[in-house]
Amino acid sequence: MTDLGGKKAKIVSMYGQALAPESYDPPQAIKNLWEKVYNDLRSEFGEAVFRSWLKPMTLQAYYHGTLEISVPTRFMKDWIQTHYAQRMLELCAVSDSEIKRLEIVVVSSASVHEDDAVAAKPIKANVNELAEKMDLSSPMDPRFTFDTFVVGKSNALAHAAACRVVECNVPFNPLYIYGGVGLGKTHLMHAIANALREKQPQKTVMYLSAEKFMYQFVRSLRAQDTMSFKEIMRSVDVLMVDDIQFIAGKDSTQEEFFHTFNALVDQNKQIIISSDKSPSDIQGIDDRLRSRLSWGLVADIHPSTYELRLGILQAKRAQLNAAVPDQVLEFLALKVVSNIRELEGALNRIIAHADVTKVDVTLETTQDVLQDLLRAHDRRITIDEIQRKVAEHYTIRLTDMHSARRARNVARPRQVAMYLAKQLTARSLPEIGRKFGGRDHTTVMHAVRKVEELIGEDPSFAQDVDILRRTLTG
Ligand code: ADP
Ligand code: MG
Repeated sequence: MTDLGGKKAKIVSMYGQALAPESYDPPQAIKNLWEKVYNDLRSEFGEAVFRSWLKPMTLQAYYHGTLEISVPTRFMKDWIQTHYAQRMLELCAVSDSEIKRLEIVVVSSASVHEDDAVAAKPIKANVNELAEKMDLSSPMDPRFTFDTFVVGKSNALAHAAACRVVECNVPFNPLYIYGGVGLGKTHLMHAIANALREKQPQKTVMYLSAEKFMYQFVRSLRAQDTMSFKEIMRSVDVLMVDDIQFIAGKDSTQEEFFHTFNALVDQNKQIIISSDKSPSDIQGIDDRLRSRLSWGLVADIHPSTYELRLGILQAKRAQLNAAVPDQVLEFLALKVVSNIRELEGALNRIIAHADVTKVDVTLETTQDVLQDLLRAHDRRITIDEIQRKVAEHYTIRLTDMHSARRARNVARPRQVAMYLAKQLTARSLPEIGRKFGGRDHTTVMHAVRKVEELIGEDPSFAQDVDILRRTLTG
């Protein structure tokens, strides 16, 4: 391995001490899965094929649905890609539907020399080529576009900010999008990258998860080739890092990211970050990085509202051209509230079921097919329990749940309790009304609508409701 002009990989923290680099290890579940696929291949293709082609494969990493496998030579990579990759992916799918892509990379001393030769050339000219060679940027999902993103109150700000980034040159830096799991952050990131590729094809766009950032950084350290990594990262026009919370506690990766960030901002290059938390809420990151992250525009995606969920289901139904009655969509939008991914999954399941059984989708078949999912949501939560928790949370008396008092400070918590009762139990509106001091079902309906509306408008209210939901279901 050549020593790049004496510049040995060395990491120094923001405070000047040397840091030990993080090591990267795929999650245990992925290791087990790989072990299984590996053995399946062996019995499927026989010992001879296995020994010549498949045995040298090594599990390198796993990030965002991509399983990365290394082989020692380029030739082997091509051969496996054309002959065995499809089957490997199928075998993965049998055990874990999360794995969507297989990336085969060449890892050997020979390939390191190859990379060095490229890195020695003027770097600006061939950033794209080099980035591709080093597998830095992740592939874009063509389904995740602005066209397929449904906008509602809860995600309007993040959506508008994302559009601005595509239309204007660095309107704010960085754009920081945050929100809970499955609420559309990755979708928006891909939508930006897809749109940039189309509207500003001259720009180099680098999109990767923070996990991949770390993994590639660690790999470049191992290969004593951090120079190429740094130069590539610092010469892109747009850097997008998904799930930045991942680098919390990973000091040397944070350090590297911090320097990349500063270098890009200095050159007026756009940075886009996503996270499950606001900059101030991420634990385990350096304060200087924290403050940098909130320099630009911080846009949050709130929990979805009923209307947005219904809108997404309608769009999805149209996309799939599937015969699903409105009533079923309304039912799903009401019941599957945790996140959009689960909502889409529920719709896919009932459509697949109808396809296989040749039975039309109805409310009955839906309840039947989604029994497990709905039961998980209904998990023995009683209205009494909801009333108790909500009263405690807002420090009102339990009897106020049944009382006729209309003062805002008791009426609002009561509405929240009705809303949660509708969402978390299988009780009908009249049944819920009866439990709240014999109120009418229209009162319950009104409460549900009102709470939905407030969730869309008021983030701290939305958070309150979310906390309550979690304590009740957790
Ligand atoms: P996150 O990255 O926030 O965890 P994703 O972007 O992966 O969430 O979204 C999960 C799924 O929900 C994806 O299939 C995505 O297309 C879908 N989704 C989320 N929000 C929307 C939306 N507003 N319109 C359409 N689809 C959405
Ligand atoms: Mg995501």
